[in-house]
Amino acid sequence: VTDRPGSRRVLLKLSGEVFGGGAVGLDPDVVAGIARQIAVAAADGVQVAVVVGGGNFFRGAELSRRGLDRSRADYMGMLGTVMNALALQDFLEQAGVRTRVQTAITMGQVAEPYIPLRAIRHLEKGRVVVFAAGAGMPFFTTDTVAAQRALETHCQEVLVGKKGVDGVYTADPKVDPTATRIDHITYADALSRGLRVADAAAFSLCMDNGLAMRVFGMEGDGNVTRALRGERIGTLVTT
Ligand code: UDP
Repeated sequence: VTDRPGSRRVLLKLSGEVFGGGAVGLDPDVVAGIARQIAVAAADGVQVAVVVGGGNFFRGAELSRRGLDRSRADYMGMLGTVMNALALQDFLEQAGVRTRVQTAITMGQVAEPYIPLRAIRHLEKGRVVVFAAGAGMPFFTTDTVAAQRALETHCQEVLVGKKGVDGVYTADPKVDPTATRIDHITYADALSRGLRVADAAAFSLCMDNGLAMRVFGMEGDGNVTRALRGERIGTLVTT
């Protein structure tokens, strides 16, 4: 390793639906609220990297079902994540947090290119780094990118903020009223019990490399700050 973070360094994955507030496009009030919560943790000295999704704009798989070429549709999806990243950057800066966006597709006027060592440097200086444009490759998801970026920038945990659910349950709580939330589970147990924690590629990256994942609900009061600080909310998944 080239760096050893002295303080807590985590990667927060925010899916596109979080940004949209349930609709297509952006809900600036929602993004501002998330930014303020990240700012509190950053002021505490937590080093925060973020991977943003883009499902509030486009999902490649959905567009391709409606006739677009899959790869081109995936690039549209990746460009959507950049808009989310810029919105988050803006509100983070308004909340007093120096923020850098790095994109996997080069667009120098808008953001820095993805340079892992530079991202680490930003984190060490207390800047929030937002990773956008996914992996820059079609057929990937931003969940997978979250695991990969966390590993490459030596984050200790991936924090997956969910909308409408506050962790991993024994069954789908929307279908089965007896379902209960699990505090801690291993990747192997989740796999054998058929519990969907993340997509398969993200899941195996985390499991194979011993990277912990915490799945938590975005809705609760100050939950994003709490997860970033290391409070034991939601479900912890470990190898
Ligand atoms: N995408 C991609 N490669 C990547 C990341 C994302 O092709 O490395 C595309 C893909 O079409 C995806 C869309 O970008 O549907 C938005 O990302 P994702 O679905 O992961 O966002 P989320 O579900 O988190 O909102």
